[in-house]
Amino acid sequence: MPEIAHIRETIFGNLKRGYERVKDPAKVGVSELCWCVRRSYYNRMNPIPPDEKTLIRFMRGRSLHDLILLCFDNREVKIEIPLECGKIIRGYADALVNDTLIELKTVKTYKWDSEHIQQLKYYMAALGKTSGCLIYHNVFSDELKFIPVNLTDGERHTVLCQLKNIADDFFYALETMNPSILPTAYIPDLCKSCVYKIRCKGDDIVRT
Ligand code: SF4
Repeated sequence: MPEIAHIRETIFGNLKRGYERVKDPAKVGVSELCWCVRRSYYNRMNPIPPDEKTLIRFMRGRSLHDLILLCFDNREVKIEIPLECGKIIRGYADALVNDTLIELKTVKTYKWDSEHIQQLKYYMAALGKTSGCLIYHNVFSDELKFIPVNLTDGERHTVLCQLKNIADDFFYALETMNPSILPTAYIPDLCKSCVYKIRCKGDDIVRT
């Protein structure tokens, strides 16, 4: 039995290190500014360790995602947006095909599409691209679904400002250790399964 314990620890210890990558205090990822920026705050300040199921789900999603990305020559396109406060928004768009930016999601449902499209628009705005494509890989049906996304030059400015404002608020909340200034989830359904529900309510934001 001691060997089994060691093998388990080898698997889950490694998955945990991949899941909880150390975050640079001077940088924020675009993905941290989507979905629920308040949850991203909690993930940095005293994060709740992931359970084994979460780690397995993470490994499966990441592996499938990275395998499909290998189909593209120009992948992991780097993004860096400097903020006036000296901090940086950073991220990696999944791939670039000709002049179309690709964002790939491995999903069981399509119900979060507005947040996925928003994330892709952030990348497009940062890189000055007007054409994007959200690709869904559905792990239940084994289908690929392609959603075209467009961003006009006029929208680009608005989207970039929005992203920078969220990032400024995020860094300010970290500095002042005050998550209550951050907006709650853009999709209320997220709260049902959020591991920070109690902490979040304790910060005087009541979600039902
Ligand atoms: S409970 Fe909802 S609003 Fe609060 S951190 Fe979690 S997802 Fe965000």
